[in-house]
Amino acid sequence: MQPRTRPLRTGLAHRRTPGWAALALVGSLFLAAPAPAQDGPGGSGGSAVAIAAETVVRDGTTRLTLTLSKPVEARTFVMERPDRAVIDLPEVNFQLGQETGRKREGLIASFRYGLFAPGRSRIVVDLAGPALVEGIETTTTREGAVLLSIPFRKVDRDSFRKAAVAGDPSPATAAKAPPVQEAADTRPLIVIDAGHGGTDPGAIAATGVFEKDIVFGFAQSFAERLEATGRYRLVMTRDRDVFVPLAERVRIAREAKADLFVSIHADSISAAPQVKGATIYTGSEKATDSESAKLAERENRADAAAGTESGEGPADVADILQELTLRETRGFSSGFANRLMGQLSPVMEMSTKPHREAGFKVLRSPDVPSVLIELGYLSSKSDLEKLQSEEWRARVTGSMAKAVDLFFSGRATLSRPVALPPRKSAAIAPVSP
Ligand SMILES: [Zn+2]
Repeated sequence: MQPRTRPLRTGLAHRRTPGWAALALVGSLFLAAPAPAQDGPGGSGGSAVAIAAETVVRDGTTRLTLTLSKPVEARTFVMERPDRAVIDLPEVNFQLGQETGRKREGLIASFRYGLFAPGRSRIVVDLAGPALVEGIETTTTREGAVLLSIPFRKVDRDSFRKAAVAGDPSPATAAKAPPVQEAADTRPLIVIDAGHGGTDPGAIAATGVFEKDIVFGFAQSFAERLEATGRYRLVMTRDRDVFVPLAERVRIAREAKADLFVSIHADSISAAPQVKGATIYTGSEKATDSESAKLAERENRADAAAGTESGEGPADVADILQELTLRETRGFSSGFANRLMGQLSPVMEMSTKPHREAGFKVLRSPDVPSVLIELGYLSSKSDLEKLQSEEWRARVTGSMAKAVDLFFSGRATLSRPVALPPRKSAAIAPVSP
């Protein structure tokens, strides 16, 4: 059969930044040396630094201009429902003010930015209406700084939809899983999942603090605490401020044949700042209450917030064996949730109903006992203070580690459920310092 040739898409949304090679940096950069990378090992050595972002609205065009230390190649595409424009860049070290991107200006309702995958940064722009990026330009100032100018022009719904259907032309963007190697280490493997990251900040406190940063710090100390016992192998779904899709978090746990998956969050209920305390969630198709359902729905939109479509995870339980496995796994999940409650209630404030169920995507592994803990609410002033206290964190991670000990010492006497596949032992690189 004759292959049908199709013209390459040259739509506005895909226009490439022209002529990097022709750009020469003259003079010395006026930029100070970037602050030490806050994003952990492998940070931002050699990557461009963004020190300013400015939006100008003129003649129906909204122009977002980034001031960078060196030229970068930008690639854009748009997405519908909600209307977004995504600007993909090589790794950029964003040194922008905390308020950057929060103000509505022209066609830009707001924007967020961050590391999307190792070596790749992304800006996700929430559009105030259908608009396309038309003709990205790069100029160099006399001082040697590089201005990346991204113009947004209003278009009709139809043209926008067409561009959105073409979608992201880049290959799959899943973050790489930690390296797995065979070894005889049979210690239980625990996956710690720090919620959100990179382009997805999670909840934002009134003080400007991001959920992604609070939960990452907490997840790291929790992992270090467990690792220090020498009794467990630890894997973190992210080891720095990087976006990891929800399905990828589940995949990491399943592929590693994890014995326990703990997801760490600290949400926000802006409508009810009086709501406070911790809540432990286990997975279920049916939510305990509408609040939990709403929370899970919001968390499940994390992929969309970071500029990816949220494909269905490995959720759908097809056959009876899987169904049985899932039921048993959920029994283990609840068992761990109860142990957590027992250990946490005496040392921290719990919400009015501390164990709830909801359909969180990250809690859908059929074969890995999984819980999600909301440490508190960023919308509550007293919770926020605790969440930022070293002393509080040490106390809570200590109690959580005790709950893990109890969970595994209890399970040592239990045989694995019949429906579970035979396990292979696998060792995984320990948590990065
Ligand atoms: Zn969250």
